[in-house]
Amino acid sequence: MSTQPEIRSRKTEPALVYGPVPSRRLGLSLGINLLTPKTCTFNCVYCQCGRTTCLTAFRKSFFPVEKIITAVNSALMKSKVDYLTLSGSGEPTLNRDIGKLISILKKRFQIPVAVITNSSLISSPVVREALYQADLVIPTLACADEKTFRRVHRPHPKIRLKNIIRGLKTFRHRYHGSLWLEVMLVKDFNDHPEHLFRLRRIVHHIQPDRVHLNTVVRPPAEPSALPVPYDHLLQLQMLFGPQTDIIPSSLRKHQQQFRGNPKQAILAVVANRPVTGTDLAQALGLPAETVAQTLEHLTTEGAVRKFKFKGKTFFTIHRE
Ligand code: SF4
Repeated sequence: MSTQPEIRSRKTEPALVYGPVPSRRLGLSLGINLLTPKTCTFNCVYCQCGRTTCLTAFRKSFFPVEKIITAVNSALMKSKVDYLTLSGSGEPTLNRDIGKLISILKKRFQIPVAVITNSSLISSPVVREALYQADLVIPTLACADEKTFRRVHRPHPKIRLKNIIRGLKTFRHRYHGSLWLEVMLVKDFNDHPEHLFRLRRIVHHIQPDRVHLNTVVRPPAEPSALPVPYDHLLQLQMLFGPQTDIIPSSLRKHQQQFRGNPKQAILAVVANRPVTGTDLAQALGLPAETVAQTLEHLTTEGAVRKFKFKGKTFFTIHRE
């Protein structure tokens, strides 16, 4: 059995697992990718995975569950993690095996399971039933009205904001795990004061355990998606109340010593999102020179593509 995260085909599919990576919210998190890129119910202007190539609201199986479990098992043989996190390049609840997978992961590994979801399918009782099993659910709610919702997320035509809000309230009512609601803010899209007051009222009714204010920190799908300035986030933290956090940017405390093949590990991370060399060094606990040399080789080989965003150099998987 390989002890490396599985790389299926770097030009067409992401790794089934990636990391562990130091998540801004979860400590060391082993990411589990449930979809082929990029399958999503949304096509958000701020998406760090680029534009959605398969916009759908149809749930189906993507990979054999046992194959995912084997990949998780291999990754856990060499790293301790704080969370197993279902996310990846798209909306994980589109994978109809998610409930079965959460159940097996919890029994098999006894590590908390988190799900990061865009909330789009939470109006479905079947989806809610699957998510009730997770220890932590992080749903997104960024908009208070349908017009802003369609502008920010560009969702599949079947998806309506009012159903999402109703689904989140129903979910909260029965869910006994932790619910951290992410409010993703994009300058001039959903940061208008009047809109934020309405959003705060809705968030208050949903009653999440925490509210996480987030903004655009990685290269977005659309250049027009800009971050909300930090001082504005500080003001909004007060508006949303004492249970509100601004996602911290410092990841240093989660740094760990990496053991294994740097090339495989770097490919597993860049397959899911654009990262800087510094992100990679911190995520994997690798020396900066090792990361720089490996990225140089991967770029020369054509496996990885390099680009500039806001003065920083990012690396992403090269897809044809
Ligand atoms: S940000 Fe999330 S929900 Fe939005 S398009 Fe990207 S993967 Fe889908």
